[in-house]
Amino acid sequence: MSAADDPREYDLDALRRRLLPERAGERSTSIPELAGADQHLCAIALALPDGSVRSSADGTKRFSIQSAVKPFLFALALADTDGGALDRLGIEPTGEAFDAIKLESGTGRPPNPMVNAGAILTCALVDGDGPEERAARIVTGLSAFAGRALQVDDDVSRSEHLLGDRNHALAHLMRDEGTLEATADDAVAVYARACAVLVDAEILAVMGATLAMGGVNPVTGERVVSARIARDGVAVMATCGVYDGSGRWMRAVGVPAKSSVSGAIVMSAPGTLGAAIVSPPLDELGTSVRGRIGAEALSADLGLHLFG
Ligand code: GLU
Repeated sequence: MSAADDPREYDLDALRRRLLPERAGERSTSIPELAGADQHLCAIALALPDGSVRSSADGTKRFSIQSAVKPFLFALALADTDGGALDRLGIEPTGEAFDAIKLESGTGRPPNPMVNAGAILTCALVDGDGPEERAARIVTGLSAFAGRALQVDDDVSRSEHLLGDRNHALAHLMRDEGTLEATADDAVAVYARACAVLVDAEILAVMGATLAMGGVNPVTGERVVSARIARDGVAVMATCGVYDGSGRWMRAVGVPAKSSVSGAIVMSAPGTLGAAIVSPPLDELGTSVRGRIGAEALSADLGLHLFG
């Protein structure tokens, strides 16, 4: 292994410099906090099986996790329901946008846990009596994936809750179908808090590594979820994690990943490493433009493609 393809020596700042001239994409305008995000932010981080974490410049700049939280919500819901969440959710890709107002026909279940309907339901399936307890359980669970105590950005959470009309619509639809037991407003409130958890590229890479390493956080050594649950989380990232761009992503990058509207992408290369790339300008599918290009380069340079 040479320095060029050894993740312990790979030049993350050189990759960042390759990405910076790319100016395509627009920031999300869904909430004011994302519309005003620093569009020059660009960071790449790797978390390795030996517990080492490496990042480029900007690697400790914070942003809200947004949909990159969804694989971890799915894992927590599986853990808290003893796998029962699998009866309440589909796991098929939709070929549609993340917030499509659509449930599985015939069952009324969310199509998968990586789209908004599914993530709203996973938030309602974690342990806790009422929305505050469930939100607290989620923050504690995410902190175990991260290996440190995470915080919620209250402004982002408030905006998500107030302005997430499509999320409220999805929650009402699931109530109507009998899929969601919590009230629609409580379910969206918890989801809004989960999306508003603050991370940085290094933290997100460790979270991705915890799933990649069979549910054991490589930094703390803590088992966060079972190997089976970690495998389920990574499998659903592979098929559904980049929404209606999941097929294109698997072909080009070949590493299970979850995209998000904050421009963060978390990647879990099974048994190998966790990675995160963040840069706010998004393409038409809601994937970070620099993130996509960077992930392709990282996968090619480090030989990460699952079918490579
Ligand atoms: N909080 C965002 C929403 O619900 C998440 C979507 C995403 O990151 O793709 O609209």
